Amino acid sequence: MTVAPLPLPQFAQARQARTFTRPPRAPDAVHAAGRMLDSHGRTIRDLRLSLTDRCNFRCTYCMEPDVRFAAPESLLQAEDFVRLARVAARLGVTKIRLTGGEPTLHPALGEIIAGIRVHTGCEIALTTNGSMLDRASLRAWRVAGLDRVTISLDTLRPDRFAHITRSTCSPQRVLAAIEDCLAEGLGPVKVNAVLVRGVNDDEAADLAALARRPGVEMRFIEWMPLDSGRTWDPDRWVSAAETCAMIERRFPLVSLPTADPSSTARTFAFADGTPGSVGFIAPVSSPFCGACSRLRVTADGMVRPCLFSVQEWDIRPALRSGHDADVAAFLIDATHTKQPGHGITQPGFEPPPRTMSAIGG
Ligand code: SAM
Ligand code: SF4
Repeated sequence: MTVAPLPLPQFAQARQARTFTRPPRAPDAVHAAGRMLDSHGRTIRDLRLSLTDRCNFRCTYCMEPDVRFAAPESLLQAEDFVRLARVAARLGVTKIRLTGGEPTLHPALGEIIAGIRVHTGCEIALTTNGSMLDRASLRAWRVAGLDRVTISLDTLRPDRFAHITRSTCSPQRVLAAIEDCLAEGLGPVKVNAVLVRGVNDDEAADLAALARRPGVEMRFIEWMPLDSGRTWDPDRWVSAAETCAMIERRFPLVSLPTADPSSTARTFAFADGTPGSVGFIAPVSSPFCGACSRLRVTADGMVRPCLFSVQEWDIRPALRSGHDADVAAFLIDATHTKQPGHGITQPGFEPPPRTMSAIGG
């Protein structure tokens, strides 16, 4: 895998948030299509719902210990998430990802999954740090309608795990959670890792080895300038190409054809024929904006057309007072404001005020 070296800028201070109650109305032809179409020809198929911005970890590349959470009274209710999923499915969404913060902290997670399953035929996936999973809850969520689980694991070393997550959890517990997901039929399990130079970049091949079995895909995500501490640093950033090269020193890889053009990951198999796969998500070095099919809604009801949007739209009034038709019109209008790309490597790029854990990864 080769990616041209990029001049990575040092970012300026984040801009102030710009929240508008309502997006401008999209053209009538877009509303008539009954789909979430943006002005660059892309269609939304993948809705990411952030159930909470709270988390029991404070991963160093994501959240500082003193991070401030949204006020409880600003948060969407379980029925709001179900309604958003139902309306989005009618507009052509086929995948719903429940994320956060840490979505397993949400007391109504099972109810939300069940509601989405009753009202949509969408694939339902959960992204979690794996710390709170057990067989009983996984089984209950699968019975409720959960299809797949993605688990984050950045290191296999207990001391590093404690340092990175600032938690008392352990890699062994997360590894056990991966086994539990597989045993409960919630595979294939995608395992996400973010490498940071000098922290865990020497573990690329060890982590890739987790995927040398059926049912597990190890995915390396490039660190993005979305952490609450604004500690993102081009000198500590590790590219997908460098990660791939480190893995290939131990496990040569062969590229797999992309089944889904809007997929964020470039996926590889092991050249020696061992089952399993490794994916690279390279939003910084190799942005995939042209094929983006995602729309995000935060736990406090902001529709974000892009991870890096500085403009977001408050859907709470439409949810509170409107009919489903109003919510649908709102989603169509918000989608139409989607920017062509995130522009991370463009001169003058400024990170958005909202951080990854408050957006929903
Ligand atoms: N708490 C859950 C977890 O960790 O899986 C779900 C939310 S977390 C924000 C979703 C994913 O975003 C995780 O895989 C995490 O590693 C990744 N992530 C968090 N901050 C990131 C950053 N600044 N750059 C790239 N990925 C990040
Ligand atoms: Fe929490 Fe996930 Fe962020 Fe870690 S990456 S602090 S687990 S939201």
